Order: sequence, then C-alpha cells, then structure tokens
Amino acid sequence: MKPGALALVTGANRGIGLETARQLAQRGAVVLLGSRDAVRGEAAARSLDPDGARILPVALDVTDTRSVAALAKRLERDHGRLDVLVNNAGVFVGATAADTTAEVTRDILAVNVVGAVAVMHAMLPLLRRSSAPRVVNVSSTTASFGLTSSGADLAGDASVRLAYTASKAALNMLTVQYDRAFRQDPDLAHIKINSASPGWTATGMNGFRAPRTVREGARAVVTLATLPDEGPSGGFFDEHGQLVW
Ligand code: NAP
Repeated sequence: MKPGALALVTGANRGIGLETARQLAQRGAVVLLGSRDAVRGEAAARSLDPDGARILPVALDVTDTRSVAALAKRLERDHGRLDVLVNNAGVFVGATAADTTAEVTRDILAVNVVGAVAVMHAMLPLLRRSSAPRVVNVSSTTASFGLTSSGADLAGDASVRLAYTASKAALNMLTVQYDRAFRQDPDLAHIKINSASPGWTATGMNGFRAPRTVREGARAVVTLATLPDEGPSGGFFDEHGQLVW
C-alpha cells in the first residue's frame, strides 16, 4: 500500500472495523472511519487519532442508499478516488433454525449482503481511478461450505447462525463474481477483491465471549487490504492462508 492511500472501512466505530482502521492508519493510509452513528464515529476516530490527521469519521449507513450516495459524492469531490474499501459492517442475530424468521433474515441480508453491494456500486467509479485498488469483504469461516459439510468445529454456537452464515456465503459469492467481472473488464482488471475470515473474535457481536483479540481478528483483513500487485484476487483467506469455499 502506498503512503497516503485512501481507505474506507465500513462499520468501523467499534470491533474489528475500528482495529482495521487503526492498523491501516499505522501502515500509512488515510482512513475514512465509516459509522452509521455520527457521534459514535467521531468518538471512535478521536480515540485513535486525536488530531484527525490520519483517521477521519464519515457517516455511512450501508442500508441507506442516500447515505451511501452522499459519501460517494463527497469522496468524488474531495479525493476523486478510493484505494482501499473494507466491507466490514455486519450484523449477527442468533436464532435457531426453527426460530429463524423471514424478518430476521431480511435484516441480516440487508446489511451483510445488500449493504456491501450498495457500497461497492457507489465506490466502484472511485476505486477504478486508483492505481492499486483493494477490496476486502469481511466474511466468516462459518460461511465455508467445505468446512461446514466436513463437520469441522468452527467455534461459537452453530445452532443459531443459519441466516448469518447464509449471508456470509452470499458475500463470498459476491467476491467471486466481482472478481470474475473485473478480470474481464480492462478498466477494472487492476482491482483486487478477496474475502477475509477474522476468526471468532471478542467483539460486541458475540458479547466479547470469543477467544481472539481484535488485533488478531483484523490481521487477515489488513493483509488483504494492503496486498502487493502480485497478490491474489477472488479468494477466501484467514491469517494462515487460503480457506476452502
Ligand atoms: P461489531 O463490534 O458488532 O461491529 C459491527 C459494526 O458494523 C459496528 O460498527 C456496527 O455499527 C456496524 N454496522 C451494523 N449495521 C450497520 C449499518 N447498517 N451501516 C453501517 N454500519 C453498520 O462486530 P465485529 O465482530 O467487529 O464485526 C465486524 C465484521 O466481522 C462483521 O462483518 C462480522 O460479521 C465479521 N465477523 C466477526 C467475527 C467475530 O467473531 N467477531 C467473526 C467472523 C466475522 P453500530 O455500532 O452502529 O451497531
């Protein structure tokens, strides 16, 4: 990643997103810290960077098309490009298979899948103008068909994540499909897009019950966000390497 690269992290006012923002800024990026709540975003950005030199809060609710469009317009006006996009905003609602309603599923898909598409669609013209654009979709090992069907222990309570895992599997397919489309378009072929698995990480999403720290959880995300030109695209990785879809 070039010094001064412009990075946008969605859902970055806490958890893995906040730590990703911190690590990207540490590596020399100027980070736009996306938060659906402006006050929480401001406080989060100030907690990492009191002077606002490297980490700037931006209002972004990924389910609100006006909010997404307003941010894209602002970036167009102020920067004219975007170098790194981390689609990190996500929600988890635990429910057993029998208790999983259409409403809960819609709410999860609205953020984890439709939200990522909305942000991608708005930011693509800006990413296209970067010399080394990188996109990371923050996914989950629990979305792996291979690991799930082989009965691997994926940590956490597997009985309450039907809709969540389906949303992350859909996000993974978005990674594959965007990558294919980019490879076929000379204007977009320089974009690298990958899915990252943070591992089961202690955040508000799980009541801080998980064993991994956000520092560990952000590792794969930051590695994929700062890939060199010879790095991979269209893959699914954790910090140890490639994962089976
Ligand atoms: P977290 O602490 O709950 O953070 C989630 C972030 O997403 C928060 O900043 C939240 O904002 C934001 N968000 C939710 N809905 C949003 C919306 N409509 N627009 C914009 N932002 C929105 O959870 P986390 O563990 O750091 O999760 C980060 C990502 O990692 C998620 O995609 C999650 O699925 C993934 N992940 C987490 C784990 C884990 O074990 N923690 C494992 C695998 C994958 P508010 O503060 O306003 O709610």
